[in-house]
Amino acid sequence: MEGLLAQMSAGEEIVWHNHKKKPIADCKGDLTLRDVLEAAARLERFAPFIQKAFPETAEAGGIIESRLLPIPQMQKALNGEGTLLLKMDSHLPIAGSVKARGGIYEVLKHTENLALENGLLTTMDDYSLLADKKDFFSRYTVQVGSTGNLGMSIGIMSAAIGYKAIVHMSADAKQWKKDLLRAHGVTVMEYESDYSEAVRCGKENSDKDPMSYFVDDENSKDLFLGYAVAALRLKPQLEALGISVSTECPLNVYIPCGVGGAPGGITFGLRQVFGDAVHCYFVEPTQAPCMVLGMSTGKHNGICVRDIGLSGLTHADGLAVGRPSGFVGKVMEDHLDGICTVQDSKLYDYLRTLLNTESVFLEPSACASFHGYLQNKNAPGTHIVWATGGSLVPKEIREQYIETHLD
Ligand SMILES: *Cc1c(COP(=O)(O)O)cnc(C)c1O
Repeated sequence: MEGLLAQMSAGEEIVWHNHKKKPIADCKGDLTLRDVLEAAARLERFAPFIQKAFPETAEAGGIIESRLLPIPQMQKALNGEGTLLLKMDSHLPIAGSVKARGGIYEVLKHTENLALENGLLTTMDDYSLLADKKDFFSRYTVQVGSTGNLGMSIGIMSAAIGYKAIVHMSADAKQWKKDLLRAHGVTVMEYESDYSEAVRCGKENSDKDPMSYFVDDENSKDLFLGYAVAALRLKPQLEALGISVSTECPLNVYIPCGVGGAPGGITFGLRQVFGDAVHCYFVEPTQAPCMVLGMSTGKHNGICVRDIGLSGLTHADGLAVGRPSGFVGKVMEDHLDGICTVQDSKLYDYLRTLLNTESVFLEPSACASFHGYLQNKNAPGTHIVWATGGSLVPKEIREQYIETHLD
């Protein structure tokens, strides 16, 4: 092994630049802005239902969205320049993580399909009528494999619609996430194995049942497009802060990466909206750098972190993925600027610094994004650290995280 791969396999932090990235005018993939707009329109159709089922979304009219918060004190603590903003998907309603975008979107899309096929609904109706159709949906099952947060978004939304929901949790999943799901009436299956194995078991279980739908995080275009909608909503948020975006004054965005769906979808959406004026970077744990392994070797999901001697074990449970998505890395060849990796110990340092400077709590996985910012903090333009989870973490667990010091 040489260079980058040797460093990765030794568990060292690396920075990788994607030399295949293309100007937006030269990008010609299957997915387009139109797909992202369609996903946004579907979420708007569901807003009356979401508002009814989840009163905490009423103020936003049933639109699940997060704040874009300037964090100048954190920036000072990190010795950065330019403007640093926190995209608080950590505080998205319903699921408390970025998965409230993609995961919920896919459940809603499946629900709309079933409702339309069975004459329960037309797209002109007020979708809040679905709140009274739990009996109908209780004949159907939704299943998913998860390291925790995806299971929470799919499980909570599926249960609210009336589905039987089964979440197949990998060994990385935290106990409190399993407890919370069970409290929502979701069946949680626990595995000793990693994420890919939980997905495999879930899919096998679902394929046996014609009434069951499987959300396939390793291959889902629906999840991807649900995440991409974030970009459409970011534009007016930046305008409201008086921030203009151009190739001279670009957006630099740092997003934690697991299987790739969330950061990939967001990046794809941002490139449709901001074109060559946005630079996106993923951040992965040193022990689970599946996306940079797949993209830098060109092997994508044909290689996993165990193949280079890594454990796949990390405190960043949301990023504990050994093999990347089957399609995201290929799409990202056109769009992504780079990927860096971070040691687990630093996640807790960023967690404490953010809490002390801005009084915002994030889960360790979400703190990976600060590491991306630190690699690029002197670049011109506006910097956005994408906070992907944390608001549902119970108080006792928060305290444990705050006290965690690794070597
Ligand atoms: C799932 C998750 C991610 C990454 O999303 P992928 O689609 O797995 O790449 C990042 N942060 C948190 C907190 C997550 O739960």
